[in-house]
Amino acid sequence: MKRVTLEYGKSENKMEKSKTRKRLLRILDIAPALKEALLSTSSIDAQREKFRDFLSSLFEKTHDDETLSPLEWILVRDAIRVLLTILSPRSERLVGFSFLQYLNDLLYKESYRDIPKPTPDFFAELEHLLKGLMGKSGIYPEKVPRFAMHEGEKAARLRSADLSRMSAGAEKLINRYPCGLDSPVIRRRSTNQSRILKFFDATDQEWNDWKWHTRHIIRNAETLKSLVKITQEEYEAVFLARENRIPFGITPYYLSLMDYQPDRKNDYAVRAQVIPPLHYVKKMIEMRDKNETSMDFMLERNTSPIEGITRRYPMIVILKPVLTCPQICVYCQRNWEIEDVYSANAALPKEKLDAAIHWIADRPEIREVLITGGDPLLLSNNRIEYILRKLSRMDHVERIRIGTRTPVTLPQRITDSLLRVISRFHAPGKREILIVTHFEHTYEITPQCTNAVQKFVRNGIRVYNQLVYTRYNSRKFEAAALRLKLCLIGVTPYYTFNTKGKEETDDYRVPIVRLLQEQHEEARLLPGSARTDEIVFNVPGLGKNYLRAAQNRDVISIFPDGRRAYEFHPWEKKLQLADTYVYTDVSIYQYLQRLKAMGEDTSLYRTIWYYY
Ligand code: SF4
Repeated sequence: MKRVTLEYGKSENKMEKSKTRKRLLRILDIAPALKEALLSTSSIDAQREKFRDFLSSLFEKTHDDETLSPLEWILVRDAIRVLLTILSPRSERLVGFSFLQYLNDLLYKESYRDIPKPTPDFFAELEHLLKGLMGKSGIYPEKVPRFAMHEGEKAARLRSADLSRMSAGAEKLINRYPCGLDSPVIRRRSTNQSRILKFFDATDQEWNDWKWHTRHIIRNAETLKSLVKITQEEYEAVFLARENRIPFGITPYYLSLMDYQPDRKNDYAVRAQVIPPLHYVKKMIEMRDKNETSMDFMLERNTSPIEGITRRYPMIVILKPVLTCPQICVYCQRNWEIEDVYSANAALPKEKLDAAIHWIADRPEIREVLITGGDPLLLSNNRIEYILRKLSRMDHVERIRIGTRTPVTLPQRITDSLLRVISRFHAPGKREILIVTHFEHTYEITPQCTNAVQKFVRNGIRVYNQLVYTRYNSRKFEAAALRLKLCLIGVTPYYTFNTKGKEETDDYRVPIVRLLQEQHEEARLLPGSARTDEIVFNVPGLGKNYLRAAQNRDVISIFPDGRRAYEFHPWEKKLQLADTYVYTDVSIYQYLQRLKAMGEDTSLYRTIWYYY
């Protein structure tokens, strides 16, 4: 979706300016004291003083206010804290922008020519911040829940009725999401499989051979178009990607998860996972031409002490023996270093692999090694065995995590012989081997991948899931539906990651507060055993920030385009000195607009504004 331009430009329109001012004044009516503070003086220092005075008296007053419900009181307190932080000169320095000065400019500037244009996103943020501040969120129609007015069985019955209502609402939304284990979907996939086999003139036996799939990875727009219907834009995007050596590929197996028609009714998450949007391809070309290091969003270069190793924590390291995958996820954070899908040159040369393994051997503090890439299960059984044997000889390595998406993209890879190789090194009480995979949607869960997961589980090897939270799996109860199904097939939800802050994947990104809302209003309704994951923001160069704890971050500004700036605290903040990290999120308003365009009822998300 195209963003609104930020500059008024030379053709400033007086009508538009007057409309903007009126709109601002109308929103400020929510908090008359702040409106008065802005209108009584044009001095920023005086306005800041007045804002602060008002916020501290509001804080005191709400402590004694018996008319405010306890939950509304919490929202008021949160909004006060946020606005105070935004107003501080420190925050302004960190982001190079003054929210207060901007309000001042909108009210007093003769001309808007040299200031950014406030977007609907900005006004929506301001309005909700002020509503939160004044105890007017409107979230709670009553002050006290009915069950709390009674005792004993009556209270229990009322409470139980409330919970049943909540559960029925959740169930209705969970059931919206199709799963690859549903009988009609299984039948559709069987037809898809036959079509693909016919195209390649192959047999069912070949379909069960993972090497056949890697030999027949769909690598260009023409082949894709011959196998499923695609839109003109999908065709152009894939064509342009291949022309410009942007990694693209889909395994025949994963292609069989796509519905034939391109309406994305059920398979939107599957298509979005591997068919790049046109603007993504264009942006990738532009960024790569400029400077490829800008694409290393996670600053892996700054955390890689030796080729093949990444280290962000005291006791765990990442070992990357191969930098390719059987297919490429559009939002892959390693898109700057993956050259091509299933490329022949992607394995770390033996001498470099040995050097990386020696590096681990020299560091007895390392208890856990995450073998990832790329997808390490693309390596031969011999190479996998070689790596596991070397690591297993180190007494200090007590856990080896294998990060792989093959159970989802190429379940045929989980052969009995691979299982024999891996489980040989799994020695309960001494060393654990575990699998971390990457399911994104219930539509990806099939009988084949259930079988692959169960092979690990039956061998005592635990399987966990890391979910990357994108627009395509972040609708109400969509991730909850996935977690429920994952647990049923033997996969434990482990992490839910915020999508990385890269421009080319803006379309996929979800505001941080949506993760918080999902955890509090959706995951929280599931039984504890099905909501075992942790929501995290991976701070570039530093490591995971646990979003669940509000004390691990601050909202420090709201920009004219409605995007919030956050200051993330490093995970080791009370252990030793480390930097904080300033991050600009995607706009909540834009995200909701995108959901709306997908047919979603955005009123289901109305509380999102009151998370920070
Ligand atoms: S599986 Fe992981 S490493 Fe491979 S393309 Fe997807 S996100 Fe990137």
